[in-house]
Amino acid sequence: MNYESIIGLEVHAQLATKSKMFCACSTAFGNPPNSNICPVCMGAPGALPVVNFAAVEMAIKAGLAFGSQIQHKSIFARKNYFYPDLSKGYQISQYEFPLCLGGHLDIPLASGETKRISITRIHMEEDAGKLTHDYGHAEKSHVDFNRCGVGLIEIVSGPDMRTPQEAADYFRKVRQILVYLGVCHGNMQEGNLRCDANVSIRKVGDTKLGTRTEMKNLNSFKAVERAIAYEINRQIAAVERGEIIIQETLLWDDAAGKSASLRSKEDAHDYRYFPDPDLLPLIVTTDWIEGIRKQLPELAAAKAARFVRDYGIPEYDAEVLTAERDMALYYEKCIAVYNSPKKISNWIMTELLRELKNEGIDITACRITPEHLAQLVTLIDDGIISGKIGKDVFEEMYTTGHAPAAIIDTKGLKLVSDTSELDAIIERVLSTNQKQVEQYKSGKVAVFGFLVGQVMKETKGQASPQVVNELLKKKLS
Ligand SMILES: [Zn+2]
Repeated sequence: MNYESIIGLEVHAQLATKSKMFCACSTAFGNPPNSNICPVCMGAPGALPVVNFAAVEMAIKAGLAFGSQIQHKSIFARKNYFYPDLSKGYQISQYEFPLCLGGHLDIPLASGETKRISITRIHMEEDAGKLTHDYGHAEKSHVDFNRCGVGLIEIVSGPDMRTPQEAADYFRKVRQILVYLGVCHGNMQEGNLRCDANVSIRKVGDTKLGTRTEMKNLNSFKAVERAIAYEINRQIAAVERGEIIIQETLLWDDAAGKSASLRSKEDAHDYRYFPDPDLLPLIVTTDWIEGIRKQLPELAAAKAARFVRDYGIPEYDAEVLTAERDMALYYEKCIAVYNSPKKISNWIMTELLRELKNEGIDITACRITPEHLAQLVTLIDDGIISGKIGKDVFEEMYTTGHAPAAIIDTKGLKLVSDTSELDAIIERVLSTNQKQVEQYKSGKVAVFGFLVGQVMKETKGQASPQVVNELLKKKLS
C-alpha cells in the first residue's frame, strides 16, 4: 500500500525585544533563575499587563515578510490551563482574532523548482517558564520563570508539506527570514526558535485528511526531519497492523531517536479561550503598517539576486554568502575596502567558512575583520606576497586577529623582487646546475621550469615568480 504524509508546522519564535510582552522585565538569557520576574509576568492579583509596542511591530514585520494580511483589530485571549511553569494559570495568546491572516513561503526543491507553502496565521502570545528535572535531587523538579511572559509569534503553516525534508527546509527558511528581519535571534540552543509538527498519513489518492498527531518542541532542523520520519513510519506500521491512529500529543526524544505519548490531544475548547479582560483590542492603523513596510530590510533572496547582478559572482556563491545575514554584511564590508568580489568570495567560501565550521562559531565571532581580509587579497594582487604565503598569513590572522601587513613584516614574508638580490641567487643556481643550462641552450626548453623551481626553492618561495621568470630568461639568452 502506498501512503503519503501530510505535514504542517507551528513555529514558535521568541521576539528579539529587550523586555517582555506585557511587563518591563528583561528577556536576557542565562540570568540567575527567577531574577527577571515581576507581579505582572507572575500573574499576581491586581497586576495589569501593558502591551509591548516593539513586540507588536516585530510581529507585523514578520507578517509583512510572509505576505500576510495584517488585521486592523486583533484580540488577546486567555488560554487556560494548569502547568507548574505557568504561575498565572493561563497564557495570553490570540485565538479567534489573530494579528496576521494568510501568507505563504516558497521553499527550494531538489529539482531546482520551488514549492509554495501556505501560512494560515501568525499570532502573538507569551512564553511560559521552564522546568528542570535533572538538577540536584532526583525526586525534585525546579522551575525558572525568567522566560515567563517573553513575547512570541506562532507561525502556523497549512498542511502543505509532504516529506520530512520539506518540513526541515521550510523551518530553515522561516528562521532565515526572521533573523534577516531582526525579529528573532534564531538561536535554537537557547530555545528561542522551536516548532511543533502536525503529522498524518493517508493512502495515495485519498482526499480526506487522516487523524493527526502533534510532535512537540522540535528545536533543531535535524530533529524536525528525524521526528517526522519516525512518526510517519510509526503511523504506517500501526495502520498496517489494523490499528486506528488516535489524536495525541507526542514528545520527541532526540537522543533516543523516538517519541513518547505526552497526553491524548486536547481540543481548542478544552482551553476555554476568552478575550483577556485586562487588555484592550489591539488596533493597528494602515499608517502604522505602511510605515513598518517601508523599514523592511532586503531579504536573502533579493540580496542574492543583487550580489549576482552587481558583483558578477556565480549564483552558488551568492546563495552561500547570503544564507546568514551577518555573513552577507561581512562580505559587503570586504568589497567596500577592496572591490574584487569573486576573489573575496573565494576566500570566504573556502578558507574562512572552513575555519568557522571547525571552531563551531559564526561570522560575528570571527577574529578576522572584513578590512583585514580585504587587505590580504590586495597584498596578494599587488604581488607583495604569493597566494601560497597568503594562506599561511590567513591562518595567522585567523588565530591572532592581527593585520596581514603586520604579520608579513614580523615574519619577513614579503616577496623578494629586489633584482640585485635575485641576481646573486640566480647566478648561484645556474652555476650549480650547469648540465640543465646546457640542455636548455641546446633546445630542451622544458628544463626552464626546473631552473625556476630551484630559484624559488633558494628564496623559500618568497621570490616573485614573474620577476624570476624575466631575470632567468635574460640570463639564459
Ligand atoms: Zn515581569
